[in-house]
Amino acid sequence: MSEIQFHNTLSGKTEPFVPLVPGEVRAYTCGPTVYDFAHIGNFRTFVFQDILRRYLKSRGYRVIQVMNLTDVDDRIIQKAAAAGASIREYTDKYIQAFLDDRAALNLEPPEYIARATEHIDDMVNLIQRLTARGFTYTSEGSTYFRISKFPAYGKLSRIDVAGMQTGARVDMDRYDKDNVRDFALWKAPKPGEHFWESAIGPGRPGWHIECSAMAMQYLGETMDIHSGGVDLTFPHHENEIAQSEAATGKPFAHYWLHAEHLLIGAEVMSKSKGNFSTLRELLAQGHKPSSVRFLLASVPYRRQLNFTPESLQGAASSVDRLRTFVSRLQTGKFPTGTSAAMAERATKAREEFERGLADDLNTAQALAAVFDLVRDVNIAIDRGEFLRGDAAPVLAALESFDAIFAVLHDDDAARLRTLGLGQDSAGPSDAAIDALVAERQAARKRRDFAASDRIRDQLAERGIILEDSRDGGVRWKRK
Ligand SMILES: [Zn+2]
Repeated sequence: MSEIQFHNTLSGKTEPFVPLVPGEVRAYTCGPTVYDFAHIGNFRTFVFQDILRRYLKSRGYRVIQVMNLTDVDDRIIQKAAAAGASIREYTDKYIQAFLDDRAALNLEPPEYIARATEHIDDMVNLIQRLTARGFTYTSEGSTYFRISKFPAYGKLSRIDVAGMQTGARVDMDRYDKDNVRDFALWKAPKPGEHFWESAIGPGRPGWHIECSAMAMQYLGETMDIHSGGVDLTFPHHENEIAQSEAATGKPFAHYWLHAEHLLIGAEVMSKSKGNFSTLRELLAQGHKPSSVRFLLASVPYRRQLNFTPESLQGAASSVDRLRTFVSRLQTGKFPTGTSAAMAERATKAREEFERGLADDLNTAQALAAVFDLVRDVNIAIDRGEFLRGDAAPVLAALESFDAIFAVLHDDDAARLRTLGLGQDSAGPSDAAIDALVAERQAARKRRDFAASDRIRDQLAERGIILEDSRDGGVRWKRK
């Protein structure tokens, strides 16, 4: 097996992957801010993270992945107020939509899914730790992180802190690189705004502290891999590092992996530019979930991905080609016998596939290995040189490919139905249920039984019964 290498934004280099605990990978994924439907640019990052976790699992690692849901921020507060809804009511709808979209794209649920509003105490505790170590100050009821106290500030994004004015503050959760300033950890409420009472006064957490607190809650003070979209590098991830490392004195994450932008025309797809498509829009136009997944997975995560209708159609025909190939192998009538050459050909394909993924998840190289195999086997079949015993090693190679890419099984119609698209609507998909179960496991782990019961009820309403096992695990079944 090839040594796994990842490009680490922190070092700026491609490095061998060595986890903290042999055989185990602890990873954190910045989840969405649930104020609207996620767009396809957001899903590019989530598909990359799914390929990452599936690949690490295929290499025998036990993966413990945490994903947060940011269910309080400036935009959520504004939008919920405009809709006359509570923050909870407003965000529940988009959380459910996000989990359903993930399931449609065949994304495995992380082991823990954590809502920010269920970890306010953890955030307050972390801010108090920072205060005890002299990294904070307060102004008009808000608490800020003093970045001049943290000399390593800028090490991830290589942002220039030289021109920074000490004491200059920024209150917004999201800002650009011209704003290297002290950022809010805890924000005093504006009149009429929702707030939490806490030991550091009434208010609500800043966006950045949420991820630091939740990551440490589930993964400990140092994790293996922190990943997200490249636009999160500054300020979000830079601030996560500052807060976490200032509080603990330990490295926060050893590997930082960032997925490049998805482009539409020459522009980055974003909510603010208004040039975005949601997954549901694409599916409603007749595209299949497997085509979207394949397209997002097929371009290596550190390359920009140009999203066009043609590229989506190209992805659809690639998936078709693979599915047709598998059924040709399964149902074709071949002469009896086995050829050593074909078994060798399949082994070579698996090795090339593996080498591609080990090289910083080069999915394009991995896919090239698969399509080369398909071409060679099709030629052998057409010439009558492919024997009945040759199908097994080739199918096994395809199966190991599909453990990562997950597009061979033709279940697009069922996935569409779970989103209420296509033919008559069925219940939630297995993956959507698994995601809710993971959220409930996170609630139980932090002994938040109210949240855990709420999710249980939510599942019961959708006809799903949970059975907790004595070892802390959980099984579910449909009524
Ligand atoms: Zn984050």
